[in-house]
Amino acid sequence: MSFDYDLFVIGGGSGGVRAARLAAAEAGARVGLAEEYRMGGTCVIRGCVPKKLMVYASGYPRVFEEARAYGWQAQAGEFDWTVFRARLDDELTRLEGVYRGNLERAGVEIFDSRAVLADPHTVRLANGIEKTARHILIATGGRPFVPEFPGCDLAITSNDVFLFESLPKRILIVGGGYIACEFACILNGLGVEVTQFYRGAQILRGFDEEARGHIAGAMCAQGVDLRVGCNVQRIDRVEDGLWVKATDGRDAVFDAVLFATGRRPNTDGMGLEEAGVRLKQNGAVEVDAWSQSSVPSVYAVGDVTDRVALTPVAIREGAAFVETVFKANPTRADHELVPGAVFTQPEYGAVGMTEEEARSHGPIEVYSTAFRPMQSGFAGQPDRVMMKLIVETGSRKVLGCHIVADHAAEMIQLAAVAIKMGATKEDFDRTVAVHPTMAEELVTLKAPVRTG
Ligand SMILES: Cc1cc2nc3c(=O)[nH]c(=O)nc-3n(C[C@H](O)[C@H](O)[C@H](O)COP(=O)(O)OP(=O)(O)OC[C@H]3O[C@@H](n4cnc5c(N)ncnc54)[C@H](O)[C@@H]3O)c2cc1C
Repeated sequence: MSFDYDLFVIGGGSGGVRAARLAAAEAGARVGLAEEYRMGGTCVIRGCVPKKLMVYASGYPRVFEEARAYGWQAQAGEFDWTVFRARLDDELTRLEGVYRGNLERAGVEIFDSRAVLADPHTVRLANGIEKTARHILIATGGRPFVPEFPGCDLAITSNDVFLFESLPKRILIVGGGYIACEFACILNGLGVEVTQFYRGAQILRGFDEEARGHIAGAMCAQGVDLRVGCNVQRIDRVEDGLWVKATDGRDAVFDAVLFATGRRPNTDGMGLEEAGVRLKQNGAVEVDAWSQSSVPSVYAVGDVTDRVALTPVAIREGAAFVETVFKANPTRADHELVPGAVFTQPEYGAVGMTEEEARSHGPIEVYSTAFRPMQSGFAGQPDRVMMKLIVETGSRKVLGCHIVADHAAEMIQLAAVAIKMGATKEDFDRTVAVHPTMAEELVTLKAPVRTG
Protein backbone atom coordinates (compact mmCIF):
# COMPACT_ATOMS: atom_id res chain seq x y z
CA MET A 1 0.00 0.00 0.00
CA SER A 2 1.35 3.43 -0.83
CA PHE A 3 1.07 6.41 1.51
CA ASP A 4 1.51 10.17 1.09
CA TYR A 5 4.11 10.13 3.89
CA ASP A 6 6.24 7.68 5.86
CA LEU A 7 5.42 9.70 8.98
CA PHE A 8 2.77 12.27 9.81
CA VAL A 9 3.26 14.11 13.11
CA ILE A 10 0.35 15.86 14.82
CA GLY A 11 1.74 18.64 17.04
CA GLY A 12 4.75 20.89 16.54
CA GLY A 13 6.02 20.93 20.14
CA SER A 14 9.13 19.53 21.78
CA GLY A 15 8.45 15.86 21.00
CA GLY A 16 6.82 16.24 17.59
CA VAL A 17 9.39 18.62 16.14
CA ARG A 18 12.31 16.45 17.26
CA ALA A 19 10.77 13.27 15.84
CA ALA A 20 9.82 14.92 12.53
CA ARG A 21 13.23 16.49 12.04
CA LEU A 22 15.22 13.33 12.87
CA ALA A 23 13.00 11.08 10.77
CA ALA A 24 13.39 13.37 7.76
CA ALA A 25 17.03 14.44 8.16
CA GLU A 26 18.60 11.28 9.52
CA ALA A 27 16.39 8.50 8.20
CA GLY A 28 15.37 10.07 4.89
CA ALA A 29 11.68 9.64 5.67
CA ARG A 30 8.95 11.64 3.89
CA VAL A 31 7.45 13.57 6.78
CA GLY A 32 4.41 15.84 7.21
CA LEU A 33 3.65 17.79 10.40
CA ALA A 34 0.53 19.71 11.45
CA GLU A 35 0.58 22.41 14.13
CA GLU A 36 -2.61 24.25 15.03
CA TYR A 37 -1.12 27.16 16.99
CA ARG A 38 2.54 28.19 16.93
CA MET A 39 5.58 26.09 16.03
CA GLY A 40 7.64 25.13 19.07
CA GLY A 41 4.71 24.13 21.26
CA THR A 42 4.20 24.73 24.95
CA CYS A 43 7.87 24.87 25.90
CA VAL A 44 8.82 27.57 23.43
CA ILE A 45 5.60 29.60 23.20
CA ARG A 46 3.91 29.35 26.62
CA GLY A 47 6.03 27.25 28.93
CA CYS A 48 9.69 26.82 29.81
CA VAL A 49 11.17 29.57 27.65
CA PRO A 50 8.91 32.59 28.33
CA LYS A 51 8.63 31.49 31.94
CA LYS A 52 12.40 31.39 32.42
CA LEU A 53 12.74 34.82 30.83
CA MET A 54 10.17 36.05 33.35
CA VAL A 55 12.15 34.39 36.14
CA TYR A 56 15.19 36.40 35.03
CA ALA A 57 13.13 39.61 34.84
CA SER A 58 11.76 39.05 38.33
CA GLY A 59 15.19 38.54 39.88
CA TYR A 60 16.52 42.07 39.30
CA PRO A 61 15.04 43.93 42.30
CA ARG A 62 16.96 41.57 44.54
CA VAL A 63 20.16 42.04 42.57
CA PHE A 64 19.91 45.81 43.03
CA GLU A 65 19.22 45.37 46.72
CA GLU A 66 22.23 43.11 47.13
CA ALA A 67 24.39 45.38 45.00
CA ARG A 68 23.81 48.23 47.44
CA ALA A 69 25.15 46.07 50.28
CA TYR A 70 28.24 45.49 48.14
CA GLY A 71 28.81 49.22 47.82
CA TRP A 72 27.04 49.99 44.53
CA GLN A 73 24.78 53.02 44.35
CA ALA A 74 22.06 51.10 42.53
CA GLN A 75 18.29 51.51 42.40
CA ALA A 76 15.86 49.13 40.69
CA GLY A 77 13.41 51.82 39.62
CA GLU A 78 10.09 50.85 38.01
CA PHE A 79 9.52 47.67 36.05
CA ASP A 80 7.98 48.35 32.63
CA TRP A 81 5.99 45.30 31.57
CA THR A 82 5.33 46.71 28.10
CA VAL A 83 9.07 46.87 27.37
CA PHE A 84 9.58 43.32 28.60
CA ARG A 85 6.48 41.98 26.84
CA ALA A 86 7.53 43.45 23.48
CA ARG A 87 10.99 41.92 23.77
CA LEU A 88 9.48 38.61 24.87
CA ASP A 89 7.16 38.57 21.86
CA ASP A 90 10.10 39.25 19.53
CA GLU A 91 12.15 36.48 21.09
CA LEU A 92 9.35 33.92 20.83
CA THR A 93 8.74 34.88 17.20
CA ARG A 94 12.46 34.44 16.53
CA LEU A 95 12.47 31.00 18.17
CA GLU A 96 9.33 29.96 16.33
CA GLY A 97 11.14 30.86 13.10
CA VAL A 98 14.15 28.78 14.11
CA TYR A 99 11.97 25.72 14.72
CA ARG A 100 10.11 26.18 11.45
CA GLY A 101 13.35 26.74 9.54
CA ASN A 102 14.95 23.60 10.99
CA LEU A 103 11.96 21.51 9.94
CA GLU A 104 11.87 23.00 6.46
CA ARG A 105 15.61 22.46 5.96
CA ALA A 106 15.14 18.82 6.97
CA GLY A 107 12.47 18.51 4.26
CA VAL A 108 9.42 18.25 6.53
CA GLU A 109 6.19 19.49 4.95
CA ILE A 110 4.41 21.77 7.42
CA PHE A 111 0.66 22.28 7.68
CA ASP A 112 -0.46 25.22 9.82
CA SER A 113 -3.64 23.46 10.78
CA ARG A 114 -5.35 21.32 13.35
CA ALA A 115 -5.24 17.65 12.45
CA VAL A 116 -7.21 14.69 13.74
CA LEU A 117 -7.01 10.98 13.14
CA ALA A 118 -9.43 9.76 10.45
CA ASP A 119 -8.26 6.13 10.58
CA PRO A 120 -5.05 4.29 11.61
CA HIS A 121 -3.20 5.56 8.51
CA THR A 122 -5.01 8.83 7.75
CA VAL A 123 -5.08 12.31 9.27
CA ARG A 124 -7.68 14.93 8.45
CA LEU A 125 -6.70 18.61 8.34
CA ALA A 126 -9.03 21.46 9.33
CA ASN A 127 -9.93 22.13 5.67
CA GLY A 128 -11.09 18.53 5.32
CA ILE A 129 -8.10 17.39 3.25
CA GLU A 130 -6.85 13.96 4.22
CA LYS A 131 -3.24 12.74 4.19
CA THR A 132 -2.15 9.15 4.54
CA ALA A 133 0.95 7.94 6.33
CA ARG A 134 2.59 4.62 7.17
CA HIS A 135 3.08 5.86 10.75
CA ILE A 136 1.28 8.61 12.67
CA LEU A 137 2.80 10.25 15.73
CA ILE A 138 0.48 11.95 18.23
CA ALA A 139 2.49 14.71 19.91
CA THR A 140 -0.30 17.09 20.87
CA GLY A 141 0.88 17.84 24.43
CA GLY A 142 -1.49 19.10 27.10
CA ARG A 143 -3.47 22.15 28.20
CA PRO A 144 -4.21 23.83 31.52
CA PHE A 145 -7.22 22.53 33.40
CA VAL A 146 -9.62 24.70 35.42
CA PRO A 147 -12.17 22.83 37.55
CA GLU A 148 -15.88 23.71 37.38
CA PHE A 149 -17.14 26.10 40.06
CA PRO A 150 -19.24 29.29 40.10
CA GLY A 151 -17.30 31.93 38.20
CA CYS A 152 -14.65 29.52 36.81
CA ASP A 153 -14.83 31.25 33.41
CA LEU A 154 -13.35 34.38 35.05
CA ALA A 155 -10.14 32.52 35.89
CA ILE A 156 -7.06 32.70 33.66
CA THR A 157 -4.37 30.06 33.14
CA SER A 158 -0.62 30.04 32.59
CA ASN A 159 -1.27 30.55 28.85
CA ASP A 160 -2.68 34.03 29.58
CA VAL A 161 0.18 35.30 31.75
CA PHE A 162 2.48 35.79 28.77
CA LEU A 163 -0.24 37.85 27.06
CA PHE A 164 -1.00 40.31 29.89
CA GLU A 165 -1.50 43.83 28.46
CA SER A 166 -0.42 45.17 31.82
CA LEU A 167 0.55 43.45 35.05
CA PRO A 168 -2.24 43.02 37.59
CA LYS A 169 -1.68 44.79 40.92
CA ARG A 170 -3.17 41.94 42.96
CA ILE A 171 -3.29 38.34 41.79
CA LEU A 172 -4.59 35.16 43.32
CA ILE A 173 -2.78 32.03 42.17
CA VAL A 174 -4.58 28.77 42.81
CA GLY A 175 -2.57 25.55 42.91
CA GLY A 176 0.46 24.11 44.63
CA GLY A 177 2.35 22.50 41.77
CA TYR A 178 5.55 23.77 40.26
CA ILE A 179 3.84 26.06 37.75
CA ALA A 180 1.73 27.75 40.45
CA CYS A 181 4.76 28.23 42.72
CA GLU A 182 6.97 29.52 39.90
CA PHE A 183 4.40 32.14 38.87
CA ALA A 184 3.88 33.13 42.50
CA CYS A 185 7.61 33.89 42.81
CA ILE A 186 7.87 35.52 39.39
CA LEU A 187 4.94 37.89 39.88
CA ASN A 188 5.95 38.64 43.46
CA GLY A 189 9.41 39.56 42.17
CA LEU A 190 7.86 41.83 39.53
CA GLY A 191 6.04 43.75 42.24
CA VAL A 192 2.59 42.15 42.02
CA GLU A 193 0.80 41.48 45.32
CA VAL A 194 0.54 37.67 45.27
CA THR A 195 -1.83 35.47 47.23
CA GLN A 196 -1.58 31.72 46.66
CA PHE A 197 -4.22 29.16 47.64
CA TYR A 198 -3.45 25.49 47.74
CA ARG A 199 -6.06 23.02 48.93
CA GLY A 200 -3.49 20.49 50.26
CA ALA A 201 -1.37 20.75 53.39
CA GLN A 202 1.88 21.72 51.65
CA ILE A 203 2.89 23.00 48.20
CA LEU A 204 4.90 20.96 45.66
CA ARG A 205 3.25 17.61 46.29
CA GLY A 206 5.43 14.72 45.14
CA PHE A 207 8.69 16.52 45.85
CA ASP A 208 10.92 15.95 48.90
CA GLU A 209 9.12 16.99 52.12
CA GLU A 210 12.08 18.85 53.58
CA ALA A 211 12.59 20.80 50.34
CA ARG A 212 8.86 21.62 50.17
CA GLY A 213 8.91 23.12 53.63
CA HIS A 214 12.08 25.04 52.88
CA ILE A 215 10.65 26.58 49.70
CA ALA A 216 7.29 27.40 51.30
CA GLY A 217 9.14 29.22 54.08
CA ALA A 218 11.24 31.19 51.61
CA MET A 219 8.20 32.14 49.51
CA CYS A 220 6.35 33.45 52.56
CA ALA A 221 9.44 35.36 53.71
CA GLN A 222 9.58 37.04 50.30
CA GLY A 223 6.02 38.24 50.64
CA VAL A 224 3.82 35.63 48.95
CA ASP A 225 0.65 35.29 51.01
CA LEU A 226 0.56 31.49 50.87
CA ARG A 227 -2.56 29.87 52.26
CA VAL A 228 -2.55 26.09 52.34
CA GLY A 229 -5.68 24.10 53.04
CA CYS A 230 -7.61 26.73 51.12
CA ASN A 231 -9.48 26.78 47.82
CA VAL A 232 -11.74 29.07 45.80
CA GLN A 233 -15.46 28.69 46.39
CA ARG A 234 -16.67 31.24 43.86
CA ILE A 235 -15.56 34.22 41.79
CA ASP A 236 -17.76 37.21 40.90
CA ARG A 237 -16.91 40.21 38.80
CA VAL A 238 -17.23 43.41 40.85
CA GLU A 239 -16.50 47.04 40.08
CA ASP A 240 -12.87 47.00 41.15
CA GLY A 241 -11.89 43.49 40.08
CA LEU A 242 -12.75 39.87 40.86
CA TRP A 243 -14.31 39.07 44.19
CA VAL A 244 -13.18 35.70 45.51
CA LYS A 245 -14.88 33.77 48.27
CA ALA A 246 -12.48 31.24 49.78
CA THR A 247 -13.24 27.93 51.48
CA ASP A 248 -11.65 29.24 54.70
CA GLY A 249 -14.49 31.76 54.94
CA ARG A 250 -12.44 34.79 53.94
CA ASP A 251 -13.01 36.90 50.82
CA ALA A 252 -10.98 39.43 48.89
CA VAL A 253 -10.83 41.29 45.57
CA PHE A 254 -8.08 40.59 43.03
CA ASP A 255 -7.32 41.95 39.57
CA ALA A 256 -6.71 38.44 38.22
CA VAL A 257 -7.19 34.86 39.39
CA LEU A 258 -4.75 32.40 37.86
CA PHE A 259 -5.58 28.71 38.07
CA ALA A 260 -2.56 26.42 37.85
CA THR A 261 -4.36 23.31 38.98
CA GLY A 262 -2.97 20.73 36.62
CA ARG A 263 -2.93 19.93 32.93
CA ARG A 264 -4.89 17.53 30.74
CA PRO A 265 -3.69 15.67 27.64
CA ASN A 266 -4.86 17.11 24.29
CA THR A 267 -6.86 14.17 22.99
CA ASP A 268 -10.42 15.55 22.96
CA GLY A 269 -12.10 15.31 19.56
CA MET A 270 -8.99 13.83 17.98
CA GLY A 271 -10.73 10.71 16.65
CA LEU A 272 -8.33 8.52 18.60
CA GLU A 273 -10.73 6.14 20.32
CA GLU A 274 -12.81 5.90 17.16
CA ALA A 275 -9.68 4.65 15.37
CA GLY A 276 -9.04 2.10 18.13
CA VAL A 277 -6.36 4.02 20.09
CA ARG A 278 -6.76 3.19 23.79
CA LEU A 279 -6.74 6.14 26.18
CA LYS A 280 -6.04 6.15 29.92
CA GLN A 281 -8.75 7.32 32.31
CA ASN A 282 -7.42 10.90 32.24
CA GLY A 283 -7.48 10.95 28.42
CA ALA A 284 -3.75 10.33 27.89
CA VAL A 285 -2.73 8.02 25.05
CA GLU A 286 -1.77 4.61 26.42
CA VAL A 287 1.61 3.56 25.01
CA ASP A 288 4.19 0.85 25.59
CA ALA A 289 7.89 1.41 26.35
CA TRP A 290 8.49 2.15 22.64
CA SER A 291 5.71 4.76 22.58
CA GLN A 292 3.48 2.55 20.44
CA SER A 293 -0.27 2.82 21.04
CA SER A 294 -2.83 0.03 20.87
CA VAL A 295 -3.01 0.70 17.10
CA PRO A 296 0.31 -0.49 15.61
CA SER A 297 0.68 2.40 13.12
CA VAL A 298 -0.03 5.07 15.75
CA TYR A 299 2.62 6.19 18.24
CA ALA A 300 2.52 8.97 20.83
CA VAL A 301 5.21 10.93 22.68
CA GLY A 302 5.41 13.77 25.19
CA ASP A 303 2.82 15.19 27.55
CA VAL A 304 -0.08 13.58 25.69
CA THR A 305 1.12 10.23 27.09
CA ASP A 306 1.27 11.51 30.69
CA ARG A 307 4.56 9.85 31.55
CA VAL A 308 7.11 12.48 32.65
CA ALA A 309 5.78 15.87 31.50
CA LEU A 310 9.06 17.67 30.80
CA THR A 311 10.52 19.00 27.57
CA PRO A 312 13.76 16.99 27.58
CA VAL A 313 11.74 13.82 28.15
CA ALA A 314 9.39 14.58 25.23
CA ILE A 315 12.48 15.17 23.07
CA ARG A 316 14.06 11.88 24.16
CA GLU A 317 10.82 10.02 23.50
CA GLY A 318 10.63 11.56 20.02
CA ALA A 319 14.22 10.55 19.28
CA ALA A 320 13.71 7.01 20.65
CA PHE A 321 10.61 6.66 18.44
CA VAL A 322 12.68 7.52 15.35
CA GLU A 323 15.42 5.06 16.35
CA THR A 324 12.84 2.33 16.83
CA VAL A 325 10.62 2.88 13.80
CA PHE A 326 12.92 4.44 11.19
CA LYS A 327 16.40 3.22 12.07
CA ALA A 328 15.72 -0.42 12.99
CA ASN A 329 17.24 0.21 16.42
CA PRO A 330 14.53 -0.48 19.02
CA THR A 331 15.07 2.11 21.75
CA ARG A 332 13.07 2.78 24.89
CA ALA A 333 12.97 6.30 26.24
CA ASP A 334 14.68 6.18 29.65
CA HIS A 335 12.44 7.52 32.42
CA GLU A 336 14.79 6.59 35.28
CA LEU A 337 16.55 9.28 37.32
CA VAL A 338 15.19 12.20 35.31
CA PRO A 339 16.54 15.38 36.92
CA GLY A 340 14.25 18.37 37.19
CA ALA A 341 14.04 21.87 38.54
CA VAL A 342 11.47 24.18 40.01
CA PHE A 343 12.27 27.79 39.17
CA THR A 344 11.02 29.29 42.38
CA GLN A 345 13.17 31.79 44.22
CA PRO A 346 15.27 30.08 45.47
CA GLU A 347 15.37 27.35 42.84
CA TYR A 348 14.92 23.70 43.60
CA GLY A 349 16.85 21.02 41.73
CA ALA A 350 16.12 17.34 42.31
CA VAL A 351 17.14 13.99 40.94
CA GLY A 352 16.17 10.52 42.10
CA MET A 353 14.08 9.59 45.09
CA THR A 354 12.63 11.82 47.74
CA GLU A 355 13.46 10.85 51.32
CA GLU A 356 9.91 9.53 51.71
CA GLU A 357 10.14 7.32 48.59
CA ALA A 358 13.57 6.03 49.56
CA ARG A 359 12.38 5.00 53.04
CA SER A 360 9.83 2.68 51.52
CA HIS A 361 12.58 0.98 49.47
CA GLY A 362 14.82 -0.07 52.36
CA PRO A 363 17.37 1.22 54.86
CA ILE A 364 18.76 4.65 54.03
CA GLU A 365 21.01 7.33 55.45
CA VAL A 366 20.06 10.98 54.98
CA TYR A 367 22.77 13.62 54.73
CA SER A 368 21.38 17.11 54.85
CA THR A 369 22.57 20.61 55.58
CA ALA A 370 21.07 24.10 55.60
CA PHE A 371 23.24 27.18 55.68
CA ARG A 372 23.42 30.85 54.76
CA PRO A 373 25.08 31.28 51.38
CA MET A 374 28.04 33.65 51.21
CA GLN A 375 26.75 36.07 48.56
CA SER A 376 23.36 36.95 50.00
CA GLY A 377 24.54 36.40 53.60
CA PHE A 378 27.08 39.20 53.14
CA ALA A 379 24.23 41.43 52.00
CA GLY A 380 22.28 40.61 55.14
CA GLN A 381 19.62 38.55 53.36
CA PRO A 382 17.95 35.82 55.40
CA ASP A 383 18.22 33.17 52.61
CA ARG A 384 19.17 29.65 53.50
CA VAL A 385 20.41 26.96 51.15
CA MET A 386 19.43 23.30 51.55
CA MET A 387 21.49 20.37 50.25
CA LYS A 388 20.58 16.79 50.75
CA LEU A 389 21.81 13.36 49.70
CA ILE A 390 19.82 10.20 50.29
CA VAL A 391 22.02 7.13 50.44
CA GLU A 392 21.09 3.44 50.34
CA THR A 393 22.70 1.95 53.45
CA GLY A 394 23.73 -1.39 51.93
CA SER A 395 25.04 -0.40 48.49
CA ARG A 396 26.11 3.15 49.55
CA LYS A 397 24.54 4.36 46.29
CA VAL A 398 23.14 7.89 46.22
CA LEU A 399 19.43 7.42 45.56
CA GLY A 400 18.46 11.07 45.53
CA CYS A 401 19.88 14.56 45.62
CA HIS A 402 17.90 17.69 46.49
CA ILE A 403 19.21 21.23 46.31
CA VAL A 404 17.34 24.42 47.20
CA ALA A 405 19.57 27.35 46.31
CA ASP A 406 20.13 30.00 43.70
CA HIS A 407 21.32 28.14 40.57
CA ALA A 408 20.16 24.78 41.95
CA ALA A 409 18.96 23.84 38.46
CA GLU A 410 22.48 24.23 37.09
CA MET A 411 23.95 22.24 39.98
CA ILE A 412 21.51 19.35 39.80
CA GLN A 413 22.26 18.79 36.12
CA LEU A 414 25.85 17.90 37.00
CA ALA A 415 25.04 15.93 40.15
CA ALA A 416 22.59 13.95 38.01
CA VAL A 417 25.43 12.68 35.78
CA ALA A 418 27.21 11.16 38.78
CA ILE A 419 24.01 9.71 40.21
CA LYS A 420 22.97 8.27 36.85
CA MET A 421 26.38 6.57 36.73
CA GLY A 422 25.61 4.96 40.08
CA ALA A 423 27.82 7.12 42.30
CA THR A 424 28.12 6.14 45.95
CA LYS A 425 28.36 8.48 48.91
CA GLU A 426 32.08 7.65 49.00
CA ASP A 427 32.45 8.76 45.36
CA PHE A 428 31.02 12.13 46.37
CA ASP A 429 33.34 12.20 49.44
CA ARG A 430 36.53 11.54 47.49
CA THR A 431 35.76 14.31 45.03
CA VAL A 432 37.68 17.43 46.04
CA ALA A 433 35.57 20.47 46.83
CA VAL A 434 35.55 23.58 44.64
CA HIS A 435 35.98 26.42 47.09
CA PRO A 436 34.31 28.75 47.87
CA THR A 437 31.04 27.54 46.36
CA MET A 438 27.67 26.36 47.58
CA ALA A 439 27.98 23.06 45.71
CA GLU A 440 31.07 22.06 47.69
CA GLU A 441 28.73 21.18 50.55
CA LEU A 442 27.62 18.17 48.50
CA VAL A 443 31.08 16.59 48.77
CA THR A 444 31.67 17.49 52.42
CA LEU A 445 28.55 16.07 54.06
CA LYS A 446 30.00 14.20 57.04
CA ALA A 447 27.53 12.32 59.23
CA PRO A 448 23.96 11.29 58.40
CA VAL A 449 21.33 13.46 60.08
CA ARG A 450 18.84 10.60 59.96
CA THR A 451 18.75 6.92 59.19
CA GLY A 452 15.73 4.83 58.48
C1 LIG B 1 4.03 27.22 32.30
C2 LIG B 1 4.84 25.98 31.96
C3 LIG B 1 6.16 25.93 32.33
C4 LIG B 1 6.92 24.82 32.00
N1 LIG B 1 8.22 24.78 32.39
C5 LIG B 1 9.00 23.72 32.08
C6 LIG B 1 10.37 23.69 32.42
O1 LIG B 1 10.90 24.64 33.02
N2 LIG B 1 11.10 22.62 32.05
C7 LIG B 1 10.55 21.56 31.38
O2 LIG B 1 11.26 20.61 31.06
N3 LIG B 1 9.24 21.55 31.06
C8 LIG B 1 8.46 22.60 31.39
N4 LIG B 1 7.13 22.61 31.03
C9 LIG B 1 6.56 21.41 30.37
C10 LIG B 1 6.89 21.38 28.89
O3 LIG B 1 6.48 22.58 28.28
C11 LIG B 1 6.20 20.19 28.24
O4 LIG B 1 6.57 19.02 28.93
C12 LIG B 1 6.59 20.03 26.77
O5 LIG B 1 6.30 21.18 26.04
C13 LIG B 1 5.88 18.82 26.18
O6 LIG B 1 6.16 18.73 24.80
P1 LIG B 1 5.12 17.99 23.83
O7 LIG B 1 5.80 17.89 22.53
O8 LIG B 1 4.60 16.78 24.48
O9 LIG B 1 3.86 18.96 23.74
P2 LIG B 1 3.72 20.52 23.47
O10 LIG B 1 5.01 21.23 23.60
O11 LIG B 1 2.59 20.97 24.31
O12 LIG B 1 3.31 20.59 21.94
C14 LIG B 1 2.10 20.11 21.48
C15 LIG B 1 1.71 20.92 20.26
O13 LIG B 1 0.62 20.28 19.61
C16 LIG B 1 -0.27 21.27 19.13
N5 LIG B 1 -1.56 20.60 18.94
C17 LIG B 1 -2.40 20.11 19.88
N6 LIG B 1 -3.44 19.48 19.30
C18 LIG B 1 -3.27 19.59 17.96
C19 LIG B 1 -4.00 19.12 16.83
N7 LIG B 1 -5.10 18.39 16.97
N8 LIG B 1 -3.53 19.41 15.60
C20 LIG B 1 -2.39 20.14 15.43
N9 LIG B 1 -1.66 20.59 16.46
C21 LIG B 1 -2.08 20.31 17.71
C22 LIG B 1 -0.26 22.33 20.19
O14 LIG B 1 -0.67 23.59 19.67
C23 LIG B 1 1.21 22.32 20.60
O15 LIG B 1 1.96 23.27 19.87
C24 LIG B 1 6.34 23.72 31.31
C25 LIG B 1 4.99 23.78 30.95
C26 LIG B 1 4.24 24.90 31.27
C27 LIG B 1 2.80 24.95 30.86
